[in-house]
Parts: sequence; structure tokens; C-alpha cells
Amino acid sequence: MRALDKLSPEECQRLIVADNVRYFGSKAANVTEFVLQRWDLEEWSRGGPVAITPPNVLKENGHALRTPVDGIHFAGTETSEYWTGYMEGAIRSGVRVAKEILRAKI
Ligand SMILES: Cc1cc2nc3c(=O)[nH]c(=O)nc-3n(C[C@H](O)[C@H](O)[C@H](O)COP(=O)(O)OP(=O)(O)OC[C@H]3O[C@@H](n4cnc5c(N)ncnc54)[C@H](O)[C@@H]3O)c2cc1C
Repeated sequence: MRALDKLSPEECQRLIVADNVRYFGSKAANVTEFVLQRWDLEEWSRGGPVAITPPNVLKENGHALRTPVDGIHFAGTETSEYWTGYMEGAIRSGVRVAKEILRAKI
């Protein structure tokens, strides 16, 4: 990605579409819309795929991220007890909050 960052959006598109054609076949050349997101140039994440905390922060304080407050329930990968920061954690947190809300309604 750092190499691509030096190229124009048009040049990136050409190279990425060529890769997709190599992986998925000639139909992948029929691009109707192309959005280029340069994650590594994002101001806050700088390309990092997950938020990290020092050791013990989540173990000691993680429960505070998922404690409902006045009927507001908190989902999102950072609130997950497992696979924090990843898609799996996001889905797990959604399932947890759905259950919390259903329990609260019963
Ligand atoms: C570059 C990159 C690569 C990654 N690669 C992987 C990978 O290979 N595998 C993997 O498992 N995970 C990967 N991840 C992590 C994964 O994308 C996240 O863990 C997951 O998307 C988190 O889902 P979420 O629903 O918790 O939050 P998000 O997907 O961030 O969703 C939160 C949503 O809330 C919206 N929102 C924010 N504030 C408000 C507001 N005030 N009102 C209304 N809406 C609001 C946002 O616009 C966003 O749509 C990657 C992440 C990045 C950035």
C-alpha cells in the first residue's frame, strides 16, 4: 500500500483491477464504480486495523465498555469479550446486545 500511495488514483485503479482480473477472471475488468480508500493515510488509524490497549486494560476495565446505561446498550467490536477489534468481535457484540435488549423487554 505504501508503494501505491505514491501513485495517482487512476494508476492505483489500473493496478488493482489488473490484480482482480488475475484472481477472479476477465469479468472483473468490467468495473462500474471504483472507490479508493487509502487506510494507511487515515489520520487516526494510520492503517492500523484494530485499536490496541496496554496489557490488563481490557481485563480490568473492559466490562465498563459493555455496561448498559439508562437503557442504552453498547455494541461494537471494542465491546466484545473475544476477538476484540475484529469482525468476529463486532458480530459477537451485536448478538450480545440483541440478547440484552430482548431480555430487558421480557
Ligand atoms: C484497514 C482495516 C483492515 C481490517 N481488516 C480486518 C480483517 O482482515 N479481519 C477482521 O476480522 N477485521 C478487520 N478489520 C476490523 C474490522 O473492520 C472491524 O473490527 C469491524 O468493522 C468493526 O465493526 P463495528 O460494527 O464494531 O464498527 P464499524 O464497522 O466501525 O461500524 C460503526 C458504524 O457506526 C457509524 N457511526 C459512528 N458514529 C456514528 C454516529 N454518531 N451516528 C451514527 N452512526 C455512527 C460509522 O459510520 C460506522 O458505519 C479491519 C479494519 C480496518 C480499518
